[in-house]
Amino acid sequence: MKGAAVQQDPKIAPADKAVETPQDRAERFAALDTHPLARDPDVTLITPRAPMSPMTHGGRAKCLQRLVRLDMPVPRTVALSFAEVHRIAAGKMPDMKRLLEPFGEAPLLCVRPSSEGADWGGPGAILNIGLNDARYAELSARIGTEAACGLYRRFIQSYAVDVARLDPDEFEEIEETGEAGLQAMLRAFEDEMEEPFPQDPAVQLAGVLRSMARAWEGTTARILREAKGAPVDAGLGLVVQELALGLGQGECGSGVIQLVNSHSGHPQITGRYLRQSQGRDALQQGAEAIFLEDDPRGPSLQELAPEAFDELIAHTQLMRKRLRAEMQAEFTLVNGRVHILDGVRVARSGRAAVRIAVSLAEDGIIPHEEALLRIEPRALNELLHRQVDPDAPRDCIAKGIAASPGAATGILVFSAAEAQAAAARNEPCILVRRETSPEDIRGMHAAVGVLTERGGMTSHAAVIGRGMGLPCVVGVSDLRFQTRQNTLTAADGRVFREGDVLTIDGTNGEVLAGAPDLMEASLDEAFQTLMSWADDMCDIGIRANADTPADAQTARNFAAQGIGLCRTEHMFFEADRLTVMREMIFADEPQDRRAAIDRLLPMQRADFAELFRIMQGQPVCIRLFDPPLHEFLPHDRAGHRELAEALDLPLSDVTRRVEALSEYNPMLGMRGVRLGITVPEIYDMQARAIFEATVEASRDGAAVVPEIMIPLVSAKREVELVKTRIDAVAAAVRVETGRNFTYRLGVMVETPRAALRAGEIAQHSAFLSFGTNDLTQMTYGLSRDDAGRFMSKYVNLGVYPEDPFHTLDTDGVGELLTIGAERGRAARPDLTVSICGEHGGSPESIAFCRAAGFDYVSCSPFRVPVARLAAAQLAVADKIGWIAGSNRPYAAVPAQYYS
Ligand code: PEP
Ligand code: MG
Repeated sequence: MKGAAVQQDPKIAPADKAVETPQDRAERFAALDTHPLARDPDVTLITPRAPMSPMTHGGRAKCLQRLVRLDMPVPRTVALSFAEVHRIAAGKMPDMKRLLEPFGEAPLLCVRPSSEGADWGGPGAILNIGLNDARYAELSARIGTEAACGLYRRFIQSYAVDVARLDPDEFEEIEETGEAGLQAMLRAFEDEMEEPFPQDPAVQLAGVLRSMARAWEGTTARILREAKGAPVDAGLGLVVQELALGLGQGECGSGVIQLVNSHSGHPQITGRYLRQSQGRDALQQGAEAIFLEDDPRGPSLQELAPEAFDELIAHTQLMRKRLRAEMQAEFTLVNGRVHILDGVRVARSGRAAVRIAVSLAEDGIIPHEEALLRIEPRALNELLHRQVDPDAPRDCIAKGIAASPGAATGILVFSAAEAQAAAARNEPCILVRRETSPEDIRGMHAAVGVLTERGGMTSHAAVIGRGMGLPCVVGVSDLRFQTRQNTLTAADGRVFREGDVLTIDGTNGEVLAGAPDLMEASLDEAFQTLMSWADDMCDIGIRANADTPADAQTARNFAAQGIGLCRTEHMFFEADRLTVMREMIFADEPQDRRAAIDRLLPMQRADFAELFRIMQGQPVCIRLFDPPLHEFLPHDRAGHRELAEALDLPLSDVTRRVEALSEYNPMLGMRGVRLGITVPEIYDMQARAIFEATVEASRDGAAVVPEIMIPLVSAKREVELVKTRIDAVAAAVRVETGRNFTYRLGVMVETPRAALRAGEIAQHSAFLSFGTNDLTQMTYGLSRDDAGRFMSKYVNLGVYPEDPFHTLDTDGVGELLTIGAERGRAARPDLTVSICGEHGGSPESIAFCRAAGFDYVSCSPFRVPVARLAAAQLAVADKIGWIAGSNRPYAAVPAQYYS
């Protein structure tokens, strides 16, 4: 401390004890409106009428102005606009004398960032600007040498590191304390910079502003904020605020307060207060901070300074009401007097966000529509599935594709049989496979989660996992899967064996060692209320893809408006049916095939009757058999032997048959309608089962109108052939039962040709439903089961903006959707048009389909609430005229709707 006379014996100066009422403050702030800086659009003194907006000065600055308008005790603040900060980054400084004028002779200041989006980050706050040798001496006399010394050291350190860009170690490693430490710091600064620590507040402030402005424009900061949704040209504002010093005589300190619990959203006075401190020191680990409200665990601000406590509660309540948001206030007490330094949106989990939005709307603070807009639809996943507790430590060993949300902990098992054995022992297990196939279904039912080495968003494990609400991580290429040894090896060399405990987080794609705490799903009343408001607004149908009664029940529980896709083949993988199915596949003679199919008929009829019963008169769209037959056959020698035994056939017959059915490219081979035409008995049986179940279900309740969907169509003639046979089956069932019924026959548009020829195909179809999984696969010529291997590289390199199996490619695949819908409707105006691929549940696809006039989207049952909310948001946004025609609703909704 060059030349400064340090007061060793602090003489505490009496602090200002005058009480300022809100009325006094209102007058004081209003008087400031005449200040020249209150009219400056770039270097703007924050007063009630100063020209400011979040788009010019950032959210923090605007929030401070709102607090000023509410006559809250906000220290004097000057906000620098985005334009001004941009000029500063380019080296053009504002008139520092003019900027500092509102702060008086010897200012003591802090600077904080103020970007437009609250989550876009920015440089950290810098406190205690203006501290120099003279001010240090004066402060030592007023608040004591030790406290003054701490403040000065803190400032020197942040100035040295953040502004002068010196090595932090140089300062952190200084061991001397107190005055000696301070001197050592000043020396270290001078040695490194070859000039003394700046003493002029204007020079200090200029340095701070320049460094913060430049930090924002740096490449790393830009990439980070763009990842959080900030536009390329996002601006930074800065707020320069007079320091309300939480150190000194009387009750001094700092803290934060909020009125809700950040995890649950329930009302709870939350926060901490630390005496003789500043900034957010109270939140630092190890700080001896105290509770705010009276608490049996220790002292509280309420008992220490009850008036200040009451005042803080009143301010925070007023913020909630008038800023229309749950806010966290940062405050300082100076000799018992409250100062509000900042207000930020309360950090919140997904479930807290729902409760907060609903309670604001129920209290009449925001309309229902705005509550809907405040929830990012995907955040609902947190309520719908178990999650890893956000506070739990995470030992992440690998990352893959987050294919089905939710978290699950269990022992590792490497086969479906082991999964079933573990389930029988009541031991939760994670099924680990290179990739899953239909044979794994029972294992998946037995497991609490699935982890695969290969696959993408539409691979078998992903689709089934989402359908079942089973957490699933696929495409985990940074784990070595040694399935013969039943081990997984992490990149850091750790080996996980069968029986070891792992947790998978299907919400973010992480694989975690051990068993971190999990939080249960909670479909509480706030969620139900929000959903009912969503349904009031929703103007596109939301159906569910449901294959089993359990799926259908989930769909109903989530208020789906019917089933948009029932994949019937999954029904044949049940143990009792698989054998019959195999008999059918192996039948040489038509009558043998007929016999096997006759045994499948009652099972299918029961399946459909159950679905109709659960859906209670809502539409159920049943897709006819789709996969190639060889999927039902065993793939290894042992399986062949077992099958030979079961069917009483020579092993060589089985092997020959399996080989005969194998295809080079099964996804493009004998599947879907091609199989339906070449082995028509299967579709005949399914149609009969559907119609007989229709008659049965209609007997007990409202008439059922089934929808029958033909998969993988590429030519009109295919539809004609299938339709003729199905009509004949319907006629036969009508005669046999003596009951009349109607049904709707439609086509699943999954091939580019079907989309292009939709006009002629629609002549025979009551509906077209786009199967965007296969349509994406065929449009790109990209295997949906193998794309996971290189997709992340492709996305990282910007070859594709997103994984097209995850986010609908609105340009290419989308064009086919539009062409198909337009041509289909031109040929048949009453055509129902929908989407039932995995994209159906994503908010972006819903925006696209809604804009293209689709009648409904269909998605996995667990995504139905997400889809309902996303669709409702689009309707609200249209109603209030913000984003007509846009398929990116969230980017276009003004920030205050998320604030
Ligand atoms: C599709 O292809 O989009 C579809 C829904 O069918 P699947 O996923 O069963 O092939
Ligand atoms: Mg398909």
